[in-house]
Amino acid sequence: MCSPLTDLDRHLAEAAARFGTPAYVYATDVVEERLAHLRAHLGRWFAVSFAVKSNPNPALLGWMRDRLDYLDISSGGELALGREAGWDAARISFTGPAKREAELRAAIEAGLGELVLESLREARLADAVAAEMGRVQPVLVRLAPARVPKGFGDQMAGRPSPFGVDVEDAAEILPQIAALPNLRIIGLHIYSGTQCLKPEAICENWRIFMQVFRDTCAALDLRPEKLIFGAGLGIPYHPGDSALDLAAIAAEIGPELDAFRAEPRLADARLVLELGRYLVGPAGWFVTRVLSVKQSRGTRIAICDGGLNDNLAASGNFGMVLRRNYVMHRVGGDEDGTRPEEKQDISGPLCTSIDKLGGGVALPRLEEGDLIAIHACGAYGPTASPLHFISHPMPAEVLLTGGQMQDVTRIRDR
Ligand SMILES: *Cc1c(COP(=O)(O)O)cnc(C)c1O
Repeated sequence: MCSPLTDLDRHLAEAAARFGTPAYVYATDVVEERLAHLRAHLGRWFAVSFAVKSNPNPALLGWMRDRLDYLDISSGGELALGREAGWDAARISFTGPAKREAELRAAIEAGLGELVLESLREARLADAVAAEMGRVQPVLVRLAPARVPKGFGDQMAGRPSPFGVDVEDAAEILPQIAALPNLRIIGLHIYSGTQCLKPEAICENWRIFMQVFRDTCAALDLRPEKLIFGAGLGIPYHPGDSALDLAAIAAEIGPELDAFRAEPRLADARLVLELGRYLVGPAGWFVTRVLSVKQSRGTRIAICDGGLNDNLAASGNFGMVLRRNYVMHRVGGDEDGTRPEEKQDISGPLCTSIDKLGGGVALPRLEEGDLIAIHACGAYGPTASPLHFISHPMPAEVLLTGGQMQDVTRIRDR
């Protein structure tokens, strides 16, 4: 029984053959669909800002330029990447808890849309830099709420945290920022948790944001132009995870967002969802080739050319407490009907026991030369991995658009 390869597997096999393995394949058609889905459900209330750190591939940033509203960067390097991809600095915001003077200078000089201030120290430094240039820089103040609901895979507030101004300290700190002559507070920013798959937790979190925004604007007598909701939208990574239901979120929180926007003080505010993985994560596959198979004390282990050096997140070492397998498949499935499914371990090429991409994964029996595709790898890929550890070749990056493939590898071997 020969079953034809799916379109996806044909593309993944072609990418591996043309550009080598390991390879990340990013499908812009999938990003496009996800963006359309996001706008269909939440576009009534929100513009969309892409967090560059989730995938700073220049080709992808260029593709996004006329499709998304804003970029959020977290370093001077990301500012350069965004601008090289053709983004106007006015559509870029800049977050990050330890901005350097040189980065502030470059951003203000470039005409950055908003500097997202994370502390009074940074505000004073930015004010001095802007004063030197004779500029008044628009800023947002990042606030760290006192509480983050349960259900977020990663949490940046609700406990001691380096990010933003704790809401408990806002009354003391914000007026000092507002008094700096070369900064102009035009709004507020919160990003307190992410990787949430529960609509009710997302809604509860946004409710907390609305309360913090409302109280802070009233205390400062601020009519904000922009309020950024660090979205927190999660994606399914593991078998059994289900996709976040945006319709449920819209239905639950929509009336409250309508009421929020109708408050006189908030009438001019543009609300923005800031996110990364939701848009690009499910649009990426990590393709690695089985180089060797070992039968070891009853376990079949497929040893691949890509591992945690290329893909730290899929190895479970990027902010995951317990390692869980990502969803993955054998490219081609069981195309000849000769490979009964069995549980196998998948490991990478590194000389360390933590270099494991899967444990007890049910896949068609793997052999040397096979390709494995790991799903949900479009965010926090190469640039979030220790690429130089053990000096293996850099992974390829491939952009797939309507069946056309392009080598867009950013980080190359020396
Ligand atoms: C990382 C980050 C994001 C994006 O997070 P995702 O989980 O990829 O959606 C958004 N905003 C800020 C400030 C971030 O640091």
